[in-house]
Amino acid sequence: KPVIIIVVGMAGSGKTTFLHRDTIKYKEVMKQFNLGPNGGILTSLNLFATKFDEVIQVIENRADQLDYVLVDTPGQIEIFTWSASGAIITEAFASTFPTVVAYVVDTPRSSSPVTFMSNMLYACSILYKTRLPLVLVFNKTDVAQHQFALEWMEDFEAFQAAMRSDDSYMSTFSQSLSLVLDEFYKNLRSVGVSAVSGAGLDAFFEAIEASAEEYLETYKSDLDKRR
Ligand code: GDP
Repeated sequence: KPVIIIVVGMAGSGKTTFLHRDTIKYKEVMKQFNLGPNGGILTSLNLFATKFDEVIQVIENRADQLDYVLVDTPGQIEIFTWSASGAIITEAFASTFPTVVAYVVDTPRSSSPVTFMSNMLYACSILYKTRLPLVLVFNKTDVAQHQFALEWMEDFEAFQAAMRSDDSYMSTFSQSLSLVLDEFYKNLRSVGVSAVSGAGLDAFFEAIEASAEEYLETYKSDLDKRR
Protein backbone atom coordinates (compact mmCIF):
# COMPACT_ATOMS: atom_id res chain seq x y z
CA LYS A 1 0.00 0.00 0.00
CA PRO A 2 1.17 3.55 -0.69
CA VAL A 3 2.16 5.82 2.17
CA ILE A 4 -0.06 8.89 2.46
CA ILE A 5 1.90 12.04 3.27
CA ILE A 6 -0.29 14.87 4.52
CA VAL A 7 1.68 18.07 3.97
CA VAL A 8 0.88 20.88 6.42
CA GLY A 9 2.65 24.09 7.40
CA MET A 10 2.14 27.82 7.81
CA ALA A 11 1.10 29.78 4.72
CA GLY A 12 4.22 30.59 2.74
CA SER A 13 6.30 27.74 4.17
CA GLY A 14 6.54 26.20 0.69
CA LYS A 15 3.97 23.37 0.61
CA THR A 16 2.77 24.06 -2.93
CA THR A 17 6.31 24.45 -4.27
CA PHE A 18 7.24 21.20 -2.53
CA LEU A 19 4.37 19.33 -4.18
CA HIS A 20 4.61 20.95 -7.62
CA ARG A 21 0.87 20.98 -8.08
CA ASP A 22 -2.38 22.81 -7.57
CA THR A 23 -5.63 20.99 -6.87
CA ILE A 24 -8.77 22.93 -6.14
CA LYS A 25 -9.72 26.12 -7.91
CA TYR A 26 -11.05 27.76 -4.77
CA LYS A 27 -11.37 31.11 -6.55
CA GLU A 28 -14.11 29.54 -8.64
CA VAL A 29 -15.81 28.37 -5.41
CA MET A 30 -15.50 31.93 -4.00
CA LYS A 31 -17.30 33.29 -7.06
CA GLN A 32 -20.00 30.63 -7.15
CA PHE A 33 -20.86 30.81 -3.45
CA ASN A 34 -20.12 34.49 -3.05
CA LEU A 35 -17.45 33.97 -0.36
CA GLY A 36 -14.20 35.55 0.78
CA PRO A 37 -10.89 33.65 0.53
CA ASN A 38 -11.12 31.70 3.82
CA GLY A 39 -14.77 30.84 3.27
CA GLY A 40 -13.87 29.75 -0.25
CA ILE A 41 -11.12 27.44 0.98
CA LEU A 42 -13.25 25.99 3.77
CA THR A 43 -16.17 25.37 1.40
CA SER A 44 -13.83 23.70 -1.11
CA LEU A 45 -12.56 21.48 1.66
CA ASN A 46 -16.12 20.59 2.71
CA LEU A 47 -17.07 19.76 -0.87
CA PHE A 48 -13.95 17.64 -1.16
CA ALA A 49 -14.73 15.81 2.12
CA THR A 50 -18.22 14.83 0.94
CA LYS A 51 -16.67 13.01 -2.02
CA PHE A 52 -13.82 11.55 -0.08
CA ASP A 53 -14.75 7.91 -0.41
CA GLU A 54 -14.18 8.40 -4.15
CA VAL A 55 -10.70 9.75 -3.51
CA ILE A 56 -9.88 6.73 -1.33
CA GLN A 57 -11.28 4.45 -4.04
CA VAL A 58 -9.14 6.04 -6.76
CA ILE A 59 -6.03 5.51 -4.63
CA GLU A 60 -7.00 1.92 -3.76
CA ASN A 61 -7.53 1.08 -7.42
CA ARG A 62 -4.00 2.19 -8.17
CA ALA A 63 -2.43 1.02 -4.92
CA ASP A 64 0.06 -1.37 -6.51
CA GLN A 65 1.45 1.35 -8.79
CA LEU A 66 1.94 3.96 -6.08
CA ASP A 67 4.65 4.35 -3.45
CA TYR A 68 3.50 7.66 -2.02
CA VAL A 69 0.51 9.95 -2.20
CA LEU A 70 1.29 13.55 -1.28
CA VAL A 71 -1.67 15.52 0.01
CA ASP A 72 -1.60 19.31 -0.12
CA THR A 73 -3.64 21.20 2.49
CA PRO A 74 -5.28 24.63 2.21
CA GLY A 75 -3.17 27.76 2.52
CA GLN A 76 -4.28 28.74 6.01
CA ILE A 77 -3.18 25.86 8.21
CA GLU A 78 -6.06 26.18 10.70
CA ILE A 79 -8.61 25.47 8.01
CA PHE A 80 -7.29 21.97 7.65
CA THR A 81 -6.16 21.20 11.19
CA TRP A 82 -9.20 22.63 13.01
CA SER A 83 -12.14 21.83 10.75
CA ALA A 84 -14.48 18.85 10.75
CA SER A 85 -13.67 18.22 7.09
CA GLY A 86 -9.93 18.23 7.77
CA ALA A 87 -10.47 15.66 10.53
CA ILE A 88 -12.71 13.52 8.29
CA ILE A 89 -10.14 13.53 5.50
CA THR A 90 -7.26 12.73 7.85
CA GLU A 91 -9.18 9.87 9.47
CA ALA A 92 -10.32 8.49 6.12
CA PHE A 93 -6.69 8.26 5.02
CA ALA A 94 -5.34 6.98 8.31
CA SER A 95 -7.88 4.19 8.58
CA THR A 96 -7.12 2.94 5.07
CA PHE A 97 -3.40 3.55 4.42
CA PRO A 98 -0.22 4.12 6.40
CA THR A 99 -0.44 7.88 6.93
CA VAL A 100 2.12 10.39 8.15
CA VAL A 101 2.18 14.16 8.53
CA ALA A 102 4.94 16.28 6.98
CA TYR A 103 5.09 19.63 8.78
CA VAL A 104 6.83 22.15 6.52
CA VAL A 105 8.80 24.91 8.25
CA ASP A 106 10.03 28.11 6.61
CA THR A 107 13.61 27.79 7.85
CA PRO A 108 14.90 31.33 7.13
CA ARG A 109 11.84 32.73 8.89
CA SER A 110 12.29 30.53 11.96
CA SER A 111 15.79 31.60 12.84
CA SER A 112 14.68 33.69 15.81
CA PRO A 113 14.14 31.54 18.91
CA VAL A 114 10.68 32.98 19.57
CA THR A 115 9.40 32.28 16.05
CA PHE A 116 11.02 28.89 16.14
CA MET A 117 9.30 28.01 19.38
CA SER A 118 5.86 29.14 18.24
CA ASN A 119 6.27 27.13 15.06
CA MET A 120 7.27 24.04 17.05
CA LEU A 121 4.32 24.48 19.41
CA TYR A 122 2.06 24.53 16.39
CA ALA A 123 3.65 21.31 15.10
CA CYS A 124 3.15 19.87 18.57
CA SER A 125 -0.57 20.70 18.52
CA ILE A 126 -0.89 18.99 15.13
CA LEU A 127 0.77 15.88 16.53
CA TYR A 128 -1.79 15.85 19.33
CA LYS A 129 -4.72 16.52 17.04
CA THR A 130 -3.91 13.96 14.34
CA ARG A 131 -2.06 11.41 16.51
CA LEU A 132 -0.05 10.47 13.43
CA PRO A 133 3.74 10.21 13.06
CA LEU A 134 5.14 13.63 12.22
CA VAL A 135 8.19 14.62 10.17
CA LEU A 136 9.55 18.15 10.50
CA VAL A 137 10.55 19.36 7.05
CA PHE A 138 12.85 22.37 7.25
CA ASN A 139 12.33 23.94 3.83
CA LYS A 140 14.27 26.64 1.93
CA THR A 141 17.66 25.31 2.99
CA ASP A 142 19.02 26.91 -0.20
CA VAL A 143 18.47 30.24 1.62
CA ALA A 144 19.32 29.22 5.20
CA GLN A 145 20.67 25.93 6.51
CA HIS A 146 18.66 24.24 9.25
CA GLN A 147 21.72 23.41 11.37
CA PHE A 148 20.68 25.90 14.07
CA ALA A 149 17.32 24.14 14.40
CA LEU A 150 18.96 20.74 14.83
CA GLU A 151 21.21 22.20 17.52
CA TRP A 152 18.30 23.75 19.38
CA MET A 153 16.34 20.52 19.20
CA GLU A 154 19.23 18.37 20.37
CA ASP A 155 20.30 20.60 23.23
CA PHE A 156 17.70 22.67 25.03
CA GLU A 157 20.43 24.58 26.84
CA ALA A 158 21.67 25.86 23.48
CA PHE A 159 18.12 26.96 22.76
CA GLN A 160 17.77 28.64 26.15
CA ALA A 161 21.05 30.46 25.59
CA ALA A 162 19.73 31.77 22.25
CA MET A 163 16.48 32.75 23.96
CA ARG A 164 18.35 34.72 26.64
CA SER A 165 20.06 36.85 24.03
CA ASP A 166 16.58 37.77 22.83
CA ASP A 167 16.17 40.00 25.89
CA SER A 168 12.70 41.25 25.04
CA TYR A 169 11.18 37.92 25.95
CA MET A 170 9.96 36.60 29.29
CA SER A 171 12.32 33.83 30.15
CA THR A 172 10.88 31.52 32.81
CA PHE A 173 7.87 30.63 30.71
CA SER A 174 9.88 29.97 27.59
CA GLN A 175 12.42 27.96 29.56
CA SER A 176 9.63 25.71 30.82
CA LEU A 177 8.32 25.40 27.28
CA SER A 178 11.70 24.40 25.96
CA LEU A 179 11.70 21.48 28.41
CA VAL A 180 8.29 20.41 27.15
CA LEU A 181 9.45 20.68 23.55
CA ASP A 182 12.53 18.63 24.36
CA GLU A 183 10.20 15.70 25.00
CA PHE A 184 8.30 16.46 21.77
CA TYR A 185 11.50 16.47 19.65
CA LYS A 186 12.40 12.98 20.87
CA ASN A 187 9.28 11.63 19.19
CA LEU A 188 9.80 12.90 15.68
CA ARG A 189 12.17 13.01 12.75
CA SER A 190 13.48 16.11 11.07
CA VAL A 191 15.04 16.77 7.69
CA GLY A 192 16.22 19.80 5.73
CA VAL A 193 15.06 20.25 2.13
CA SER A 194 14.82 22.80 -0.62
CA ALA A 195 11.55 22.57 -2.52
CA VAL A 196 13.14 24.72 -5.22
CA SER A 197 16.37 22.78 -5.82
CA GLY A 198 15.16 19.35 -4.67
CA ALA A 199 18.01 19.02 -2.15
CA GLY A 200 17.35 16.70 0.80
CA LEU A 201 14.59 14.65 -0.83
CA ASP A 202 16.35 11.31 -0.23
CA ALA A 203 16.53 12.02 3.49
CA PHE A 204 12.91 13.15 3.38
CA PHE A 205 11.69 9.84 1.94
CA GLU A 206 13.85 7.88 4.39
CA ALA A 207 12.16 9.74 7.25
CA ILE A 208 8.77 9.04 5.67
CA GLU A 209 9.53 5.32 5.40
CA ALA A 210 10.61 5.17 9.05
CA SER A 211 7.47 7.05 10.08
CA ALA A 212 5.30 4.68 8.05
CA GLU A 213 6.86 1.78 9.97
CA GLU A 214 6.05 3.61 13.17
CA TYR A 215 2.48 4.06 11.98
CA LEU A 216 2.13 0.32 11.44
CA GLU A 217 3.68 -0.52 14.81
CA THR A 218 1.92 1.93 17.07
CA TYR A 219 -0.58 4.29 15.52
CA LYS A 220 -2.58 1.71 13.64
CA SER A 221 -3.37 -0.38 16.72
CA ASP A 222 -4.13 2.78 18.69
CA LEU A 223 -6.51 3.86 15.94
CA ASP A 224 -8.25 0.47 15.89
CA LYS A 225 -8.72 0.66 19.65
CA ARG A 226 -10.35 4.07 19.42
CA ARG A 227 -12.95 2.88 16.93
P1 GDP B 1 2.62 27.54 0.68
O1 GDP B 1 1.77 28.71 1.06
O2 GDP B 1 3.06 26.76 1.89
O3 GDP B 1 2.01 26.64 -0.36
O4 GDP B 1 3.97 28.14 0.07
P2 GDP B 1 4.44 28.33 -1.46
O5 GDP B 1 4.81 27.02 -2.06
O6 GDP B 1 3.45 29.16 -2.16
O7 GDP B 1 5.80 29.13 -1.25
C1 GDP B 1 5.84 30.42 -0.68
C2 GDP B 1 7.04 31.19 -1.23
O8 GDP B 1 8.26 30.56 -0.84
C3 GDP B 1 7.07 31.24 -2.74
O9 GDP B 1 7.53 32.52 -3.12
C4 GDP B 1 8.07 30.17 -3.14
O10 GDP B 1 8.71 30.44 -4.36
C5 GDP B 1 9.05 30.22 -1.98
N1 GDP B 1 9.71 28.91 -1.74
C6 GDP B 1 9.11 27.73 -1.52
N2 GDP B 1 10.02 26.76 -1.32
C7 GDP B 1 11.24 27.34 -1.41
C8 GDP B 1 12.60 26.87 -1.30
O11 GDP B 1 12.90 25.69 -1.07
N3 GDP B 1 13.59 27.81 -1.44
C9 GDP B 1 13.32 29.13 -1.69
N4 GDP B 1 14.35 29.93 -1.82
N5 GDP B 1 12.07 29.59 -1.80
C10 GDP B 1 11.04 28.73 -1.67
